[in-house]
Amino acid sequence: MAIEDGERVAETGVRVDGVSKQYRSEGSPVQALRNVTFDVTKGEFVCLVGPSGSGKTTLFRIIAGLEEPTKGMVFLGDAPVKEPGTNMGVVFQEYHLFPWRTVRGNIAFGLEKQGTPADERTERVDRLLELIGLEEFADSYPNQLSGGMKQRVGIARALAIDPGLLLMDEPFGAVDAQTRRMLQDELLEIWQETKKTVLFVTHDVEEAVRLADRIVVMSSEPGAVRETVTVDLPRPRSRSDPGFGEYYEQVLDLIRE
Ligand code: ADP
Ligand code: MG
Repeated sequence: MAIEDGERVAETGVRVDGVSKQYRSEGSPVQALRNVTFDVTKGEFVCLVGPSGSGKTTLFRIIAGLEEPTKGMVFLGDAPVKEPGTNMGVVFQEYHLFPWRTVRGNIAFGLEKQGTPADERTERVDRLLELIGLEEFADSYPNQLSGGMKQRVGIARALAIDPGLLLMDEPFGAVDAQTRRMLQDELLEIWQETKKTVLFVTHDVEEAVRLADRIVVMSSEPGAVRETVTVDLPRPRSRSDPGFGEYYEQVLDLIRE
């Protein structure tokens, strides 16, 4: 497809710099993250994996500007993230679509907020509908869609404003295995076409090995980076490929350590 705004494409890398997060709850405070540092290069596809409770969602929310770190900082390109920004498209596990808006209306939301003229908006939404293969559902409402379709709409909505970074937290966690596989393939195609920087959070090691250029492995209590693994396998990848199993075992061992 042509998300064509040429130069802006793939402009933005991410730097997570010494991020710690302590939640104050009644009783003892929870140290959710300790001194987390890593980079995502422009155009790179990075998966953040770790067991439940390793601070992935906390880190996702901090990168998205929805939560403040106790220490450290996140940079998007050169700019420190201080609040939810315009150069980032965010996809949550629970679809977070507007139930009263059609598919077209959901995808157009960010563009309306930006004040994009109506004809340009229509053209852009049409291209995104084509990209996610939901042209025929443009006028449907979220409750008329399957889980996989809803998440396609979530991705299109995130891409609508042509952000440098696509940030996703377990986006395929709520769909069945077969749909998940399809969405993974589609996401890779979208990534290859749009050259976005992608930071994708998952607890699913197989998903991470299928998708990522690089996997940042988190450990828990407190959440910290255990190791970063570069996945040097050609795409498309399948579980039965030579080499796949080795990466899978390597990452799983790191998580279990
Ligand atoms: P993950 O997404 O990897 O499962 P989370 O970031 O959701 O991990 O949680 C990391 C830790 O922080 C957990 O111990 C969790 O209970 C705690 N936590 C998350 N959100 C809050 C909150 N709002 N208040 C207090 N503790 C929290
Ligand atoms: Mg989580």
